[in-house]
Amino acid sequence: MSSLKVDRAQALRKMSELLRAGAMMLSDTCPQCGLPLFKLRSGEVVCPIHGRVYVARSEEEVEKFTLIGVLDSVEDVVVSKLAEMRRGIEQKGLDEDLIRRVIGLLEVIERIERIKREVLSERRSEGSLSSRSQKR
Ligand SMILES: [Zn+2]
Repeated sequence: MSSLKVDRAQALRKMSELLRAGAMMLSDTCPQCGLPLFKLRSGEVVCPIHGRVYVARSEEEVEKFTLIGVLDSVEDVVVSKLAEMRRGIEQKGLDEDLIRRVIGLLEVIERIERIKREVLSERRSEGSLSSRSQKR
């Protein structure tokens, strides 16, 4: 479940849809699946599979997006752990120890979500990158 295998047929279908909609294929590739990225008419950059992609324009952004990538993968692990525990609950029922562990995992997810929100909103508050260039 943790593999990021891409359904090629689905990817191709989605790519042709994007092109038909007037999107432009970029030379950049998705950091998650390696597919080419597309620029929509709205200016948004998307991956055919993963949807909106954040393209880093500075070292600082590279760091932020690396952090988000790491958080995402930790979250995946936690979610699959929860799914595993659900099977345990179905078999053995809930005991106090299990409840504590479930709560612990949910807290991890909550914190990850919060950090991601903070990191991404920091970026938004910097303003539109295309219209405001920072001079030093
Ligand atoms: Zn992708």
